[in-house]
Amino acid sequence: MEKQTNFIRDIIDDDLKNNKNDGRVHTRFPPEPNGYLHIGHAKSICLNFGLAEDYKGLCNLRFDDTNPTKEETEYVNSIIEDTRWLGWDWGGRLFYASDYFDKFYDYAKGLIKKGKAYVCDLTPEQTRGYRGTLTKPGKNSPYRERPVDENLDLFERMKAGEFEDGTRVLRAKIDMSSPNFNMRDPVIYRILKSAHHNTGDKWCIYPMYDFAHCLEDSIEGITHSICTLEFENHRPLYDWFLDTLDIFHSQQIEFARLNLGFTVLSKRKLLRLVQGGYVSGWNDPRMPTISGLRRRGYTPSSIRKFCERIGVAKFNSIIDISILEGSIREELNLTAPRVMAVLNPLKVVIINYPEDKVEEMDAVNNPEDPTAGKRNVPFSRVLYIERDDFMEDPPKKFFRLAPGREARLRYAYFITCKDVIKNEQGEIIELHCTYDPQTRGGDAPDGRRVKATLHWVSDRHAIEAEVRLYEHLFLKENPEKIEDGENFTVNLNPDSLKILKNCKTEPCLKDAKAGKAYQFERLGYFCAEILDSRPGNPVFNRIVTLKDTWAKIQNKERAKNN
Ligand code: ATP
Ligand code: MG
Repeated sequence: MEKQTNFIRDIIDDDLKNNKNDGRVHTRFPPEPNGYLHIGHAKSICLNFGLAEDYKGLCNLRFDDTNPTKEETEYVNSIIEDTRWLGWDWGGRLFYASDYFDKFYDYAKGLIKKGKAYVCDLTPEQTRGYRGTLTKPGKNSPYRERPVDENLDLFERMKAGEFEDGTRVLRAKIDMSSPNFNMRDPVIYRILKSAHHNTGDKWCIYPMYDFAHCLEDSIEGITHSICTLEFENHRPLYDWFLDTLDIFHSQQIEFARLNLGFTVLSKRKLLRLVQGGYVSGWNDPRMPTISGLRRRGYTPSSIRKFCERIGVAKFNSIIDISILEGSIREELNLTAPRVMAVLNPLKVVIINYPEDKVEEMDAVNNPEDPTAGKRNVPFSRVLYIERDDFMEDPPKKFFRLAPGREARLRYAYFITCKDVIKNEQGEIIELHCTYDPQTRGGDAPDGRRVKATLHWVSDRHAIEAEVRLYEHLFLKENPEKIEDGENFTVNLNPDSLKILKNCKTEPCLKDAKAGKAYQFERLGYFCAEILDSRPGNPVFNRIVTLKDTWAKIQNKERAKNN
């Protein structure tokens, strides 16, 4: 497929034309290991690794692990797994920002020696007071003019652990009256007596993100440092550090982050869903995480396709979740075998069909794939159809089975409903139908037509399965758009998970392989649950629905009534 061009490619093309960086293209994906990757990260991964691939360059995987308090090895491992699963390879260039802590420290001393950084003893509250406002410049810290030697001595003692958390920081000496807050003498090192997942107790001072990130890029020789728009007004600081230290200068380029409707894409908020027990974990199939999407049944290629399709721009927007669903639906339409499964079974007895007879019906595995072949589906006197496919008193637009009406059973026969059997509570428990032996395979020799084709499963041959249906995790397209965005959990959809325990599937699904996807005819695409499915006791996740006109009509009516 021809790749869409975008403004980042234009920048790279220009750089190559001018032989900037000797024609090298070197990108990186720099996650902070403080959570699992989500679909927004996939966008960044596909962009960075994709550019490297297309320009025959390199892309590093780098853990931006400069904050010891929130980072864990579990996250590191999941990020490696998810990035690899998406299909990308970093060619052995897996780096940790924490491996550069000695270098960062030396660079910080370099700034002090140039008179460009100082140790500041203001308390955090005082610092805030000195910072000024949007309309008022900040005030210089009384410690700003400390001599270089004193700064070096204090900084070394900060490192040696002589001072308590929060008592001193190292700040860059830039401009307290800059209209850009990031340039008002930002903190570049803080004291944090906290062990780090990689360096243990070696350090009790840690660099701030803005200082560390540009150095990481420079150390690795990154040519194009791609990040999201929030960092646009950090770019002057990024440039200032590299220019002041006079070291290799990577170019920061910002693009719009992915926002997806009906979910949240922030590790912090996803962590709240996990810790609050709103979902079963980071890999809950409703989560927009890579591990959640994988468990739901998304494939790496469908996610890559999605990322390609949404493109890269410089303005923020919310992407419709149907684009993501469309990408997997399109793929599975070509690859997933069709099978029949009944989610809400209604028993049907074919009263004129012999008790013990079983016929093997010819069924096409995938009409989109001629190589997929055929299979046999057993037919017998007692069957199940979907409860929704029968109505005792059908409204005008309902064309499926009803008393006295004829419908086709897929790959089998026409049946006619003769009798509706109810229990004492008046609930329908069984239909008595007749079949027309002349219609085997699904066509009537006299050319008569029926309006509906129903899926079905033979009772005697049915496999009992659990099926999990998912709806959007949130009720609102933008769940964070409320007075207090932190309160976004009020917008969770209470019906986002529905578990159906007594579903019936045709026998070929008995030992469905974990992760294998199928189209359940008329119901959608499903995959055998990776963690909970067992041979003989399969569990299926619905990945996406099929487009269903009746469901649309129902939804419209429901919307009208609400
Ligand atoms: P979050 O807000 O989810 O915590 P983050 O930006 O803090 O995300 P990082 O681990 O720092 O997460 O991100 C690693 C890379 O992924 C960064 O380059 C970041 O710009 C990118 N990224 C994160 N979220 C998105 C998103 N929604 N869309 C596109 N890129 C993203
Ligand atoms: Mg972050």
